[in-house]
Amino acid sequence: MLPPIQLLDLAAEHAAYQAELDAAWRDTVQQAAFIQGPAVGAFAAELGAHLGGAHVVPCANGTDALTLALLSLALPPGTEVIVPAFTYVATLEAAALLGLEPVLVDVLPDTFNVDPAAVRAALTPRTGAVVAVHLFGQCADLEQLTIICQAAGVALIEDNAQALGATFTFASGSTAYAGTVGEVGTTSFFPSKNLGCLGDGGALFTRDAARATLLQQLANHGQSQKYHHQCIGLNSRLDTLQAALLRVKLRHLPAAQAARQAVAARYDAALSTVPGLQIPARDPRSSHVFHQYTITVEGGGRRDALRAHLQAHSIPSAIYYPLPVHAQPAYAYLGYQVGDFPVAERLCQQVLSLPVHPGLNGEQVAYIIDQVIASLF
Ligand SMILES: *Cc1c(COP(=O)(O)O)cnc(C)c1O
Repeated sequence: MLPPIQLLDLAAEHAAYQAELDAAWRDTVQQAAFIQGPAVGAFAAELGAHLGGAHVVPCANGTDALTLALLSLALPPGTEVIVPAFTYVATLEAAALLGLEPVLVDVLPDTFNVDPAAVRAALTPRTGAVVAVHLFGQCADLEQLTIICQAAGVALIEDNAQALGATFTFASGSTAYAGTVGEVGTTSFFPSKNLGCLGDGGALFTRDAARATLLQQLANHGQSQKYHHQCIGLNSRLDTLQAALLRVKLRHLPAAQAARQAVAARYDAALSTVPGLQIPARDPRSSHVFHQYTITVEGGGRRDALRAHLQAHSIPSAIYYPLPVHAQPAYAYLGYQVGDFPVAERLCQQVLSLPVHPGLNGEQVAYIIDQVIASLF
């Protein structure tokens, strides 16, 4: 019998190295240094090495990481921050809370990532930053975004919550890890992310040592040393316990990534010829770490019919995201209208993410493929 298919199977994933997680937990309890304990710095150093030597500053979650990234730029209130209209809401929530002005731009229909031409067109003298999202596990066009931001003198922030470990190769031939190209990169260790902890967690990346120091201070009440406050900061630290667990999970990340890519390759091969279905487009300059395997299904109602068919066959799927940012009531104040971002709006009607986690076995993947094809042919 086929084991039940889940959208995410963390219990199965963790079972493979339960003893290591147990030991990390036990050591943390014994050492009792629950805030800023030694595992935090050790994890930051290990993740930095994993990402080609970037400075890593851990924090409490991926949304705080975006807030801290923007704080580190010291942008005056009202400064415009360009963000994609098709993303998780946290990408612009931080800007909005800081009194900055989110400026939405449309995304590309094939990669789902921000359209560099739309970014260029949205620049004004009040633009202070561009937040690019590496959606679903593949890098946005870092080549064009870097050129545009440098020419305009605005900061590039990479929201890398979904593409930790992905790489981008520039025309010059140099390759960089997602999150380490812009002024600041951010990530999340929310449990469902590719590198997830057992609660909330996040981190920032930068190649600039001075900015790393600033980010460290901002994440810890603006302190340079205890009770000496250089700037107004946040209480946004990664718990020692989460850092200890993340050290274990980081060791298993390459295998988990390879497992995701193997599932994606099977979907690609089986689904590339299904009429009306688009497999995820690959940008040849970027690797894809498949935080999500997201297909698009054309034709009114066909995506929802496929989702219902899968559900009826005990296959969970998900819609990331059902509404573009400008259709969210919280962001109505920005004044956008339906029709302003046609690609984002269409994607919300057409996308469907299939299970792609490392715990899937071959039979499960074959069954999912069979049911997708049975529904659409
Ligand atoms: C998950 C996510 C975040 C927020 O991370 P949290 O740790 O949940 O605060 C931000 N941006 C994107 C694109 C995400 O997927």
